Amino acid sequence: MENNEGMLLLFSGPSGVGKDTVLELIFEKNKNLQRSISLTTREQRQNEIDGVDYHFVSKDTFMKLVDEKKVLEFAEYGQNYYGTPKGPVDKWLSEGKVVILKIEVQGAQKIRQIYPDAISIFLMPPSMEELESRIRNRGTEDEKGIRERLNIAHQEIKRCVDYDYIVVNEDSNKACDDVLDIIKVLNFTYKRMNNYISEVIKNV
Ligand code: 5GP
Repeated sequence: MENNEGMLLLFSGPSGVGKDTVLELIFEKNKNLQRSISLTTREQRQNEIDGVDYHFVSKDTFMKLVDEKKVLEFAEYGQNYYGTPKGPVDKWLSEGKVVILKIEVQGAQKIRQIYPDAISIFLMPPSMEELESRIRNRGTEDEKGIRERLNIAHQEIKRCVDYDYIVVNEDSNKACDDVLDIIKVLNFTYKRMNNYISEVIKNV
């Protein structure tokens, strides 16, 4: 049987909300999901691995890849560039995979224009106070960086109306299960089942 159509899932949420932890749990629990690894010009954090968390590149390399049209979308976020490599995403979608992009709101908007069928999930903090304390406890940003990220967070949360689903991250395991439940239901849509249906009725 031919592959089902792939599905692109945009996963956004303000800095500090816990996207990485939730994503880690998601990929641990469902090995069929494909994680897109973004390019970034930001500095590598201590716990991050190049090629696993991000492809850490210089600004020159990043811009060269953009010029060569190898980047699907990119956005500037707090003085750094972030972008989605195009080749792997197109390949995985043609193989019928569910591809998850960790992406901020401007990038998600650009992707919706290229792939109108993309599904989007916004991870919400339980409260702004909790978000601030998570960013502070992470200890990866100086005071200026923290203020900047909180500022962006306010703007981003206002854009959650553009998203199909909102998941609240009170508890990472619960948020992970909520996202997996959403994906599970989406697998029953006609779009994900149409090749199967064609196969079943081909000799009728
Ligand atoms: P962080 O520096 O905390 O890892 O990420 C900062 C922001 O960049 C997050 O909102 C994250 O979702 C976003 N981001 C990560 N990868 C990409 C990408 O490929 N494209 C865009 N547009 N945003 C990204």
